[in-house]
Amino acid sequence: MTPGDHGRLLLLSGGVDSTALAAICRPDHALFIDYGQRPAAAEQRAATQVAHLFGLPLTTLQLDLRPLGGGLLLNEATQPGAPSPEWWPYRNQFLVTAGAAIAFQRGLSQVLIGTVLGDGDRHADGTVRFYAALDELLRLQEGNLSVAAPGIDRTSEELVAASGLGADVLGWTVSCHRSNLPCGDCPGCWKRARVLRAAGMQP
Ligand SMILES: [Zn+2]
Repeated sequence: MTPGDHGRLLLLSGGVDSTALAAICRPDHALFIDYGQRPAAAEQRAATQVAHLFGLPLTTLQLDLRPLGGGLLLNEATQPGAPSPEWWPYRNQFLVTAGAAIAFQRGLSQVLIGTVLGDGDRHADGTVRFYAALDELLRLQEGNLSVAAPGIDRTSEELVAASGLGADVLGWTVSCHRSNLPCGDCPGCWKRARVLRAAGMQP
């Protein structure tokens, strides 16, 4: 830790990106949030295994955002005005805010999120500009917390390569937007298959 750094909390979904960040950043704490997404049970199992592997204390939080949600993570209906099929309105803002509150409770100073290059093309809450604004918003509040997206300038493939993780760990990851059993036919499943193929694995 550097002076003023009281520890980092990683938002760990159990997907390839946040799992790679757990390996690269070695945070001090992990947080899994069940916000009502359909694959929550599978994601929580994956996050629990990843946290255990890295010796990360894991907090799990139930935060039912279904009345506010939309997109494939919620149901099969198309959200009017959605920038992408999986878009859940303001999701990352909610997740970072919840992460900051948990970090504050535990005396930690920064929230890490596994956003990667390309996410910003699918929804505005995956852009550098969004995190810069959210960081400023956190810093002006009590606690002086910050948020960082350390993978935002790298693709998932680059992040996984940098993590050095192999099939034994990446095999646990969960990225399906629809269900606890991967559907094989959603942007999350397509992405995970692409990333595992690039790493020389069978998805
Ligand atoms: Zn899927």
